[in-house]
Formats: sequence, structure tokens, C-alpha cells
Amino acid sequence: LARSEKQLLADYQQGSDESYLRRLQILQALPDAIVNRKLQLHYQPKMDCGTGQVNGAEALIRWQHEQLGVIRPDEFIPLAEQSGDILRVTRWVCQAALDQQQYWLEQGIDIQMAVNLSALDLQADDFAEFIATELRARHLSPTKLTLEVTESAVMADLEKAQKRLKELRELGCKIALDDYGTGYASLAQLKHLPLDKLKLDQSFIRGLDSDANDRIIVQSTLSLAHELKLQTVAEGVEEQAAWRLLRQMGCDTLQGYYFSRPLAAVEFEQWLKNEAP
Ligand code: C2E
Ligand code: CA
Ligand code: CA
Ligand code: CA
Repeated sequence: LARSEKQLLADYQQGSDESYLRRLQILQALPDAIVNRKLQLHYQPKMDCGTGQVNGAEALIRWQHEQLGVIRPDEFIPLAEQSGDILRVTRWVCQAALDQQQYWLEQGIDIQMAVNLSALDLQADDFAEFIATELRARHLSPTKLTLEVTESAVMADLEKAQKRLKELRELGCKIALDDYGTGYASLAQLKHLPLDKLKLDQSFIRGLDSDANDRIIVQSTLSLAHELKLQTVAEGVEEQAAWRLLRQMGCDTLQGYYFSRPLAAVEFEQWLKNEAP
């Protein structure tokens, strides 16, 4: 091998070793982070598309590690899914989000709370019972809790997922299909799932103002969703132009940086007081 090629190979190996090492460190640190409450939730407001009023919040997990720095959910959630730690992560997320919802309710802040689930959560036989218990313990209404699931999480074990979602819905919880449009299934295939809401993926919303194809895809998806009696949510709304277009197209709920980034609970309260429309 030429010297430069050797160098390249060494760089490559070093690079992949580094990311391998980081993944390993993340996996090793996760159990402690769960047990010792080092994870945090941020909340991103959801807005009524017509009125521009806040109508909910999505809980999004955050992890700041002493040595490893900020670990984004896109980085550690897939690892936690592989290791199985996700089961404990999700249960912590649900408990923390419901604690927050209960506290806010006491403060007169009454909003729909959404949490994200993974494939493994849907496969756990006791998941609906867990949610029922946590809601009851806080005297919270199941109808104020939305569970967001992706198509791939559902397809991992369709039968179990269907059963679980049905149980959750019988409790009174709302089910949202997240990242819609990035998977392979059509709405026709998904129509048998017990769903209440469809969340259009950000990738279609970003180009809404400039890309005619995105507008066609979004418009036809919104129409179809409404015919299937699903509420529609658009995420990744970064500009007023997207809001205007989505309102014309009849979208129900919006989420995105145009309104607010995900915020720590106290920041969220401040935002509600000072900046919310
Ligand atoms: P997601 O569920 O699709 O969440 C939306 C992501 O888009 C969030 O990233 C949010 O901060 C970001 N976002 C919201 N509005 C905008 C916008 O206008 N522009 C742009 N560019 N981005 C926007 P985040 O918080 O980094 O989460 C990434 C993903 O990690 C989530 O995607 C979800 O799949 C996963 N995740 C986050 N928290 C949890 C959790 O508690 N449990 C599970 N299972 N997954 C989670
Ligand atoms: Ca989500
Ligand atoms: Ca999403
Ligand atoms: Ca996503």
C-alpha cells in the first residue's frame, strides 16, 4: 500500500473505532442515567393551525453527559432499542411527562401531552396496563395523552402492535402515526390500525413553499387522512409561509421551530406566558 493509502486506512479505522467507542460508552452510561434521573424532557408546543393557539406538547428526551457531552436522541435511542434499555427509558419518559402534565394542570395549564414509543414498547404485554396505572395514580384523563408511534415500530410486529394500540385506545388514549410518508406503507395498508392522528414528516413540510410536488403530496395526504377520519399534524414548520399553506390545505395541528423549539419545562411556562400567540 502507498503511504497515503495506509494513512487513509488508518484514519478510517481510527474514525470507526472512535464512533464504536462512543457507542459503547453511551450504552454503558445509559443504565446509570435512567436510574439516577440524568435524562431530561423538553417540550415542544403544538399549535392549532386555524387559531394559532397552543393545543398540546410533545415530550422529547434530552441527555447531557458529564464526559460525553450532549447525546442527541437520534444517537442514543437507536442504541437503547438494540440493547433493550428502551423499555426503561420509555417508562421513565411516560412517568416524567405525566408528572409534568399533572403539575401543569394544577397551575391551570391544561394541554394534551404526547410521548414517543418504540417497537419494543408495543410488544410488551403489560404496556397498556402500565399507562393505565400511571394515569390513575395522577388522576389524569387518558384522552389527554397521545402516544406517537412510527410505521417501522408498528411493522416490527404488526399483530402485537395492533393489539397494544387497541388496548391503549380502549383506555381512551390517542394514537398518532409519526413520520408519516417516510416509510413504505400506504394509508390504504395502514387503515386497519387504530389511529387518531397522522403526523406528516418534516421532509415534506420544509419545501412546501418552494416545491410544487411537496404541496401535492401534502394536500392529497391531508385529504385522504381526513376522509379516513384522522386528525392531521404537520411537523417541521419553520416559516410563516408553511403555516399559511397548511391552513389553506386544512391541516389541524402544527409543530415546528417557527412557533418554538423544544423547551425545558420552566422555559415552556415562560414561553406560554410571554410569547405564545
Ligand atoms: P420525532 O419524534 O420525529 O421528533 C421531532 C424532532 O424534530 C425533534 O428532534 C424536534 O426537536 C425536531 N423538530 C421539531 N420542529 C422542528 C423544525 O421546525 N425544524 C427542524 N429541523 N426540526 C424540528 P429531537 O428532539 O432531536 O428528536 C429526534 C428523534 O428522537 C424524535 O423524532 C424521536 O424519533 C426520537 N425521540 C426523542 N425523544 C424520544 C423519546 O422520549 N422516546 C423515543 N422512543 N424516541 C424519542
Ligand atoms: Ca414524535
Ligand atoms: Ca416525527
Ligand atoms: Ca423522527
